[in-house]
Amino acid sequence: MLLGLDGVHVEHVDRRDGLLTVTVSSPPGPAGCPSCGVIATGRGRRRRVLRDVPGADRVRLVWRQRVFRCEDTDCGRKTFMEQLPSLVAPRGSITARAVVWAIGQLRREHATVQGLARQLDTSWKTLWRAVEPELEQLAADESRFDGVSTLGVDEHIWHHVDPACAARKELTGMVDLTRDEHGKTHARLLDLVPGRSGRVYKAWLDQRGEDFRRNVKVAALDPFAGYKAAIDDKLHDAIAVLDAFHVVKLATAAVDEVRRRVQQDTLGHRGRKGDPLYGIQTILRAGAEHLTDKQRARLVAAINADPAHEEVFIAWQCAQQLRAAYHAKDLAQGRRIAVTVVDTFHTCPIPEIARLGRTLRRWRDAFLAYFTTGRSSNGGTEAVNGIIELHRRLARGFRNRHNYRLRMLLAAGGLTP
Ligand SMILES: [Zn+2]
Repeated sequence: MLLGLDGVHVEHVDRRDGLLTVTVSSPPGPAGCPSCGVIATGRGRRRRVLRDVPGADRVRLVWRQRVFRCEDTDCGRKTFMEQLPSLVAPRGSITARAVVWAIGQLRREHATVQGLARQLDTSWKTLWRAVEPELEQLAADESRFDGVSTLGVDEHIWHHVDPACAARKELTGMVDLTRDEHGKTHARLLDLVPGRSGRVYKAWLDQRGEDFRRNVKVAALDPFAGYKAAIDDKLHDAIAVLDAFHVVKLATAAVDEVRRRVQQDTLGHRGRKGDPLYGIQTILRAGAEHLTDKQRARLVAAINADPAHEEVFIAWQCAQQLRAAYHAKDLAQGRRIAVTVVDTFHTCPIPEIARLGRTLRRWRDAFLAYFTTGRSSNGGTEAVNGIIELHRRLARGFRNRHNYRLRMLLAAGGLTP
């Protein structure tokens, strides 16, 4: 741990009670006044205690920081402190390498700011104050947008801890879904901006510049007309594709609605424990191929409990058909199933499925484009959403949208160029 400290040497090491105290200082030498440049005279040293990367013990650096006085009588500056940016930021109390360490822990190890602050023996606020400017700098680096050829856009609900601020919860998220040379997607959350509208997405695309926009060949989206308008307007070279994750989610939601409606119609109350349809909620959400024999038996028993339940079964089969299109090994076969879906669902006597069918018909080209763009949007959005969910829970909510954005970008790969 003591190696790799640039510009200082170790004077003294003390270890007791789980605390390693290392006294360091820079070698004597001339220093110019930061105001006038005149060579200044040394005026002794001052002890400055810094938090450093913990090992088996917590680590404190005691930096014997040099104090100088400017000898130029015309200069407004009287004394000034030695600065070693590679050791610590000018007014910081956490070493530069501990800040790098903390960012790495937040990025890869699912750490929390609170937990890291505890390990550094400092407060949440002090650590965040050291980390935040570094993240801001990474976020402001436009090179992180280089090479994006498949771009996803997605409505994003920030689960604000204050329920009174409902309006501020809506964000628009941009995700890099570009495949690498092996055809693998390493989805990265590129940005989160306030609001959910085509205008918001357009403005963001404008900010990225002409080269970025020209490079985007596939634009994935959830079925929201505002985003589509922004794509048509700003991404002339891109094919719009409905994100598979969102389409499957719509189908799952439709089945759930049918189940609740039939439940209400047959029993006159909302589902509760012991009701046949209530017990199969999760089974209905899963893919048929994942069901165990026991789950299948429960599904059959629940459907057979009442003739009215047949409707739920048909809706479930429709959703399974849609899933089958996406899961088909062969894209041509998948497209054939998708065409059947888009041509038939809207005529379904079950209103929820018919509505889904109308949505898909409205989005026919973007829906079918999935099968001609090599599964362009598959899995990436879902993966990013999973990471966001996890980090939200770890942090137990966010009050500040700016912090939320930086933390989510960091966790979901957006700050890794
Ligand atoms: Zn001076």
